[in-house]
Amino acid sequence: MAIERTFSILKPDATRRNLTGKINAIFEENGLKIIGQRRIWMSQAQAKAFYAVHAARPFYNDLVEFMVSGPVVVQVLEGENAVAKHRDLMGATNPANAAEGTVRKLYAESIEANSVHGSDSAENAANEIAYFFAGCDLVG
Ligand code: ADP
Ligand code: MG
Repeated sequence: MAIERTFSILKPDATRRNLTGKINAIFEENGLKIIGQRRIWMSQAQAKAFYAVHAARPFYNDLVEFMVSGPVVVQVLEGENAVAKHRDLMGATNPANAAEGTVRKLYAESIEANSVHGSDSAENAANEIAYFFAGCDLVG
């Protein structure tokens, strides 16, 4: 199976509750390697552009406000089938629907404050990684 890269964000609800280590332990224990990582406080402009695909959705403005409400950890994960594996480990968007043992089942506060972001395709992963990281910042 192919080695892939995916883009991951530990959202403000996760940094606020000191959960970054617990969440990343789940990713690492399941074969995903953190090859790039930075703690940042996103600007409104960055959050709006990052979530531009959702601009027409009713939750867009609230989502942007939430994403700039505190620091986040942006990171790149590498491993076999990384995009799908990361999504599986995250669990469903709404924690009420998330499977046992997933990050969102364990830690999400709500459908909005759901602790993690993960790319939903290899193509989006490449775009999202390039938005936050230079190639020379990624060290496997
Ligand atoms: P996912 O993060 O699982 O890929 P989406 O891409 O559909 O989910 O949505 C992006 C983010 O927007 C979600 O992770 C969540 O923070 C927020 N969101 C999604 N749906 C809703 C909703 N119905 N109400 C409030 N926030 C939402
Ligand atoms: Mg999504």
